[in-house]
Amino acid sequence: MNESTPRVAYFCMEFGLHEDLHIYAGGLGILAGDILKAARDENLPMVGVGILWRQDYTEQFIDEQDRPYDCYHEYRYDVLEDTGVVVTVPIQELPVRVKVWKCTAYGNVPLYLLDTFLPDNPGWNITAQLYGGLEEERVAQEMILGIGGVRALQALGMPVDIYHFNDSHAVFAGMELIRQQMANGASFTDALLSVKQHIVFTTHTPVWAGNEAHSHRVLAYMNAYDGLSWEQVTTIGGDPFSMTAAGIRLSRRANAVSQLHGQTAREMWKSVPGGPDILAITNGVHCGTWQDESIRQAHAAGADLWERHMALKRAVIDLVERRNGVSLDENVLTIGFARRATPYKRSDLIFSDRQIIGELLHSRKLQIILAGKAHPNDMGGKATITNIVRIAREFPESVVFVQDYDMVVGKMLTRGCDVWLNNPVRPMEASGTSGMKAAMNGVLNLSTLDGWWPEGCQHGVNGWQFGGGYQGSDANQVDSVSLYQVLRGEVMPAYYDHRADWMRMMHASVAMAQWQFSAARMVREYYERMYT
Ligand SMILES: *Cc1c(COP(=O)(O)O)cnc(C)c1O
Repeated sequence: MNESTPRVAYFCMEFGLHEDLHIYAGGLGILAGDILKAARDENLPMVGVGILWRQDYTEQFIDEQDRPYDCYHEYRYDVLEDTGVVVTVPIQELPVRVKVWKCTAYGNVPLYLLDTFLPDNPGWNITAQLYGGLEEERVAQEMILGIGGVRALQALGMPVDIYHFNDSHAVFAGMELIRQQMANGASFTDALLSVKQHIVFTTHTPVWAGNEAHSHRVLAYMNAYDGLSWEQVTTIGGDPFSMTAAGIRLSRRANAVSQLHGQTAREMWKSVPGGPDILAITNGVHCGTWQDESIRQAHAAGADLWERHMALKRAVIDLVERRNGVSLDENVLTIGFARRATPYKRSDLIFSDRQIIGELLHSRKLQIILAGKAHPNDMGGKATITNIVRIAREFPESVVFVQDYDMVVGKMLTRGCDVWLNNPVRPMEASGTSGMKAAMNGVLNLSTLDGWWPEGCQHGVNGWQFGGGYQGSDANQVDSVSLYQVLRGEVMPAYYDHRADWMRMMHASVAMAQWQFSAARMVREYYERMYT
């Protein structure tokens, strides 16, 4: 870091810093947490801005009818520092007070967390549930993050060169910066141009439905225009107001999160100025958090990884024993799959041909550990989980579903399975990061060529691909046939008959992942290509 290194404020709706700080839902938050840790490791001038979700995203368990149900607690923390700063965000006509906490407890640069849970505060429960509520509540939450975040940094006296919107939830911060310049006499056009110089934006989803849009009726009703006019707000986000288009128009540079996602995003947003220039910066994960230390050391010494791997595998088997009462066999090839239950991730693809998979499971040559949550309002996702739970009941000795997927479960599974399965419909997975965690622990990836995997995969050398990058409408059929072929023809023989090759592949996997797919590489790339 030197005098000219830009000071960055990294805005995100969720941060996954540690399992005990319940303010994340999944990959987006973990990425944000990892970047704050990497910035701290690299001594870079960054702070995070997020929300102190008092009731978490959801804790999710399975009921007697195999259906996922959600639990909420109200969390109190002793790892947060009171900054003494309170700012106000007018929501509808109500002056909502926002308290600012600071968190540096997890090896991260400072994370400022916004909190409306104050006595007598109108809208006190806006910061209750991450991704909870209806459209009005979502807009209110986004106003707290964007408008409240800018005001909080100013009240803290924090100088900011670059505002990084990690996904689009923070775009109202751009409107607030424009409004402030206009209050100082600038025209809207000049204010937009000048604010743009200080904003960068990362887009995260090729799934249209994952790109939020809001009706202007709701925005106006909530007071999200923040003093701007309908024309001005429409210039930024269109009608309906596309949060992603707004992010692209408000920023001087936008990026996607893998090389393949870069292509998809440039095509997807080509009609928005700046859309065709979207860069690609592939995600990475924080090695200090996700890589087992003894695996790292053994790999560096070129030593045997097997013994250490088996210890990590036994830890997973113990976890399954404790949580599910099932005793898995440490000598059986064990596949892990932990994902948000959403259609394009196809959590049950490996069960599509019951004949083939049934034979493999009954022969006791294969065990499968699955985990994942569905969004509390996503009935389709919940039905997928129910399906998996019922399949697990059909194969009680060799298929398990671990409830309440969180960072603890994620950490253990990406260290202690033998193979990490990933089968999104290409090109729907922007990046994916759990496979990177697995790879740097010598857990071999078996994945469709989507997200980050086309950049990492050397088939048969550091993992395997299946499906050949196929993108037709019959991809489910093509991918499942190919999955069984590679599993039976390559993965199982390597595991059972060519253990020395397998162990070489584990080293190749760690070598591939630990720099190229690290948050350290990623944060440097952000500084070089986005911030400066
Ligand atoms: C790493 C991680 C994710 C993201 O994994 P993907 O492969 O991107 O789906 C989600 N949730 C938890 C708990 C994780 O640790």
